[in-house]
Amino acid sequence: MDTRSTLADEVRAEARDWFERQWDPARPLGEWWEMLARSGWGFPSWPQAWFGRGLPPDLAVVVNEERARAGATGLPETLGTKAIAPLLVSRGDDLQRQRYLLPTISGQAIWCELFSEPGAGSDLASLATRAGRDGDEWVINGQKVWSSGAPVSRWGLLVARTDPDVPKQRGLSCFVVDMHSAGVETRPLRTMTGEYKFSEVFLDDVRVPATDVVGEIGRGWDVVKDTLALERKVIGPASGSGGMVDNNRIPALDRPAGDVAAEERAGRQRGAMVTGAGGMALVRTLLECFGGADDPVTRQQVAGLYCLQEVVRYTALRTRASQRRREQPGFGPGPAASIMKLLTGRSAIALRQVALRIEGPRGMLFAADAPLGGVVQKLTLASPSMAIMAGTDEIQKNIIAERVLGLPPEPSSGRDVPWRQLHAGRPTGGPR
Ligand SMILES: Cc1cc2nc3c(=O)[nH]c(=O)nc-3n(C[C@H](O)[C@H](O)[C@H](O)COP(=O)(O)OP(=O)(O)OC[C@H]3O[C@@H](n4cnc5c(N)ncnc54)[C@H](O)[C@@H]3O)c2cc1C
Repeated sequence: MDTRSTLADEVRAEARDWFERQWDPARPLGEWWEMLARSGWGFPSWPQAWFGRGLPPDLAVVVNEERARAGATGLPETLGTKAIAPLLVSRGDDLQRQRYLLPTISGQAIWCELFSEPGAGSDLASLATRAGRDGDEWVINGQKVWSSGAPVSRWGLLVARTDPDVPKQRGLSCFVVDMHSAGVETRPLRTMTGEYKFSEVFLDDVRVPATDVVGEIGRGWDVVKDTLALERKVIGPASGSGGMVDNNRIPALDRPAGDVAAEERAGRQRGAMVTGAGGMALVRTLLECFGGADDPVTRQQVAGLYCLQEVVRYTALRTRASQRRREQPGFGPGPAASIMKLLTGRSAIALRQVALRIEGPRGMLFAADAPLGGVVQKLTLASPSMAIMAGTDEIQKNIIAERVLGLPPEPSSGRDVPWRQLHAGRPTGGPR
């Protein structure tokens, strides 16, 4: 037996023992999440000093198998736990880790990402929200948009311009913003699924302590790139959740953890169905209900979907394998996350097409009137957003072209021009 499999056996035995002894379905969810977070079994690939066990990602998979075997629910899967907490582990300071990690991973605090602006999406580095220093504080003015989960968030990770006199990517810094601070106003936006999933956020003289700068002043672009790469990783099936993280769906912390675990199992199946991971199960169900397996075009589309999902699955395995080779496991997913995100979006669209074809005229129905409670209709309306969120498909291709294929960077006017010159005459959210 090699050393690695011996270690895997030891980890499996230890995790099994812990979950068998500690998991109690009657325990309130908040209490369970805090226990799990403090034990290090919740995010086993994180460093031991910060709520992990320092295990490589493939052994973290072993731990998750043991958790699932015990029937226990895992730590909440939010933007905060999956992207911002790992970012704070790798780029925050000890004070920030002490203050923010435990409430985040134990489900007490939700985060939003305050990056996009009305005039800065793909070209995020051209953003105009400004932060100016005032003693021990920074004062922030500007507007963000498409901020998922902002009204329910306790904190936001915000990027703002701290130096307008250097080229656009060099004058940015990142801050933790308390969403309850004076001067923060959120206005929810409705999506075509009918839900209020994201918001505009207005910042009017919002004060942030200097201790809440994440990373170095002027190096915020690096923080942004890491956050987006972590977020893309979550969107793909490599996350293991088979779906996106929804800030708005955190269950109440006083509910029995066992009830939430049961709902999670059902939800995970549903989530996996509508992303790349479990689409074939949905297609089989639809074919059983409505027929169509003998239709030549449907058969072509089903086989095409299957091939795409296999590519997604192999790419996820390769992504995990490349992470194993990294020195600090679990962090810095790199351009592989761009490939995963592109493939997952395509897989969702291929699934949508074949599912609607099988449903035929019934596909025009909506919500409770539609087949299977409207799961295909929801996918139909939500899937276009996968090509936009966390950086559009075109931007992912630019990343792959430059960082994987080594092609020259795309022509850009202004790469070396100070931001103020590029934006002369345009309105900005400058400090008063
Ligand atoms: C569901 C969802 C959730 C989101 N959540 C958040 C959030 O929580 N926080 C947040 O800050 N933002 C969030 N966003 C915003 C998202 O990050 C932006 O919408 C995205 O980056 C695109 O920016 P934009 O909408 O301004 O489009 P634009 O940048 O204006 O792009 C318009 C079109 O031009 C193309 N294009 C632009 N530049 C290039 C280029 N250089 N090369 C080739 N093509 C190009 C784009 O691909 C796109 O097709 C969310 C978006 C969605 C859909």
